[in-house]
Amino acid sequence: MNFIKMILDIMITPMCLICEREVSNGLCCNKCFFELSKDFNDFDRTKSLGIAKAISVFVYSDRTKKLIESFKYNGFERVGKFFAQLMAYKIEKNKSLFKENSIIVPIPTSKARIRERGFDHTHFLANELSKLTNLQYKKLLFCPNYKISQTKTNDRWENSKNKFIGIDIPEYKNYQIILIDDVITTGATMISAIKVLNELGYNDIICLSVAMKF
Ligand SMILES: [Zn+2]
Repeated sequence: MNFIKMILDIMITPMCLICEREVSNGLCCNKCFFELSKDFNDFDRTKSLGIAKAISVFVYSDRTKKLIESFKYNGFERVGKFFAQLMAYKIEKNKSLFKENSIIVPIPTSKARIRERGFDHTHFLANELSKLTNLQYKKLLFCPNYKISQTKTNDRWENSKNKFIGIDIPEYKNYQIILIDDVITTGATMISAIKVLNELGYNDIICLSVAMKF
């Protein structure tokens, strides 16, 4: 399977990122790796989130949670690159869900969170995924504290009882939006984002996450 090669290609780490015990030659020890392989969303199960469908690389579990946290809170870029490779593989493998003219849009992280962690995890994933797939990466969503003066003043903004604000760029309305997040549990975050984008006239949206709770 492809992902075995992917894991072997990743830099050597002295500690398993999942059980934090045994020494390993990849992201995790052999024992955790075999357990992790059970969490792959092998049958490409999707979940409906309003007008959009969501698909993930992994099913959410204690193991995938641990691995995502090592990326999100410790900023382990090699883990993020590994996730991006698997997300690219999902896109490549699911031609019925993902269209060729699509753009990658991350769920935004608030500035306070980025400052706290020193790291914008969804930006990292979206950027890596864009490099791997050659799909455009565009920030269309922002947290409400984002300074509007930073963009062109004639852009229309969808505000703002919502969790996010969105930016109206007519040329992207014909594209499929691939919304990226690390984890989908209830889907509430994605649904907020979908609502904002949809109100702006982006009608073709699909969600892709590292892990998802079914
Ligand atoms: Zn382990």
